[in-house]
Amino acid sequence: KTFEEFDLDPKLLRAVAEMGFEQPSPIQAKAIPAIIEGRDIVGQAQTGTGKTAAFGIPLLQSIDTKERQLQALVLSPTRELAIQIAEEFRKLGKFSHGIKILPIYGGQDITKQIRSLKGGVQVIIGTPGRVMDHMRRKTLKMDTVKMVVLDEADEMLNMGFRDDIETILTAIPEERQTILFSATMPKPIMEIAKAYQKDSEIIKV
Ligand code: AMP
Repeated sequence: KTFEEFDLDPKLLRAVAEMGFEQPSPIQAKAIPAIIEGRDIVGQAQTGTGKTAAFGIPLLQSIDTKERQLQALVLSPTRELAIQIAEEFRKLGKFSHGIKILPIYGGQDITKQIRSLKGGVQVIIGTPGRVMDHMRRKTLKMDTVKMVVLDEADEMLNMGFRDDIETILTAIPEERQTILFSATMPKPIMEIAKAYQKDSEIIKV
């Protein structure tokens, strides 16, 4: 498999090459075409497998740069992971001009975040608590979100974010794509998948 075999924007292919990715990792080889096709997926993958780019490449490809509103939301259990995902997305989006990516997490000045949000952001990587905080303040609206990713979903559940995740997913229009990544697949993860995904494809590596 090569990245050229996927139906990718040349700008993304250029970024992938510049990042030194020679060939898709196993999770990428399976997840990228499925997500581009519009499918919901459950990906079982540990850190280090290239899972961030597995959802990041098709997510960035789906962004309409002519539209300034929020189009994609990634939920992450920790601020460290949110920052790391945002950095990887910025590298992947290096040549895709006009994509605004913002990490939002607790502990960061909320008025500063609100100012950044007002500037127009298409991709948010956020921790569930802070995303909920912005939803309550109406500084973040979910009605234009077309793709949502739950990264390290098992960790988010372990940290007690289940109610927040369900509230956020309920606020996003149903004709969205829902991507779930988790290192482990305990029952609550499968329940979330069943309740909030449509005919999802399970991908294990
Ligand atoms: P992750 O599992 O997303 O945390 O990725 C682990 C590391 O692998 C990151 O530094 C990525 O930039 C890198 N990486 C992701 N995909 C590839 C690939 N196809 N080839 C080489 N390195 C990759």
